Amino acid sequence: MVQAVVAVGGNVGDVTQTLRHAQSLIEQQDSVDDVRPAELFRSVAMGADAGESFLNSAWVIETSLEPLELLDLLQRVENDLGRTREVRWGPRTLDLDLIFYGDEKFDCPRLTVPHPHCWYRQFVLAPVASLVPDFVHPVFGLTTRQLMERISGNELPVGYAGDLADDHFLTELVSGFPRVELRRGVQTGDFDQPEVSLAFWFGSGDSKPKSPFWLHVPANDGPQFVRDVLTAACVDVEPVG
Ligand code: AMP
Repeated sequence: MVQAVVAVGGNVGDVTQTLRHAQSLIEQQDSVDDVRPAELFRSVAMGADAGESFLNSAWVIETSLEPLELLDLLQRVENDLGRTREVRWGPRTLDLDLIFYGDEKFDCPRLTVPHPHCWYRQFVLAPVASLVPDFVHPVFGLTTRQLMERISGNELPVGYAGDLADDHFLTELVSGFPRVELRRGVQTGDFDQPEVSLAFWFGSGDSKPKSPFWLHVPANDGPQFVRDVLTAACVDVEPVG
């Protein structure tokens, strides 16, 4: 048996009921021994067209399924409970993301674990850290509690660099995020805490620094991408109930 961690959420319909239903479908599988859910959290929707606020939680699943078999099961449950994918980062009945599969690293076209965007998203880290606070992220070497603390303190030091970095654009954009402290021209070594919590790279992927805390800003969608990442990192999620 492997311990897998799944981030769960939705913002359409009765999400609490949908999550309960999804959990029971997973528990019915012979290949699943146990599903342990976290409390619910409310979070601001990420993405220009994402709609209402989300309810988020997480599960620890004890399973004998291989990583891709587990992804198949999660996607089947998403589809059975009415998930559609018309809009990227759009409104959704149910979203199930595989965050950790034991402490394995796995990368193929359909699946990357640990989930590559889990480390800056409060809506993932808050429920995951409440379930498995001492679990060490296999890539970053930090516990889930430490990852949550990196982004949820009073200030969020955000670095940026790259050949297309535009000071004016970023200064204006982060004015909506009072906790962000901009640091220009950061280096990979600046990620020793608490210098920089996350950093954006503007420019070609080839020259991007290798530290996993860097986020490569897509050329065609830069402002929205940066806004979404900062929303996920800075806007505190609220426990529900
Ligand atoms: P989304 O619509 O945001 O849930 O993304 C689903 C897509 O991401 C699917 O095509 C999956 O194959 C892919 N994917 C890659 N890594 C993961 C992961 N760790 N968990 C869930 N989906 C993943």
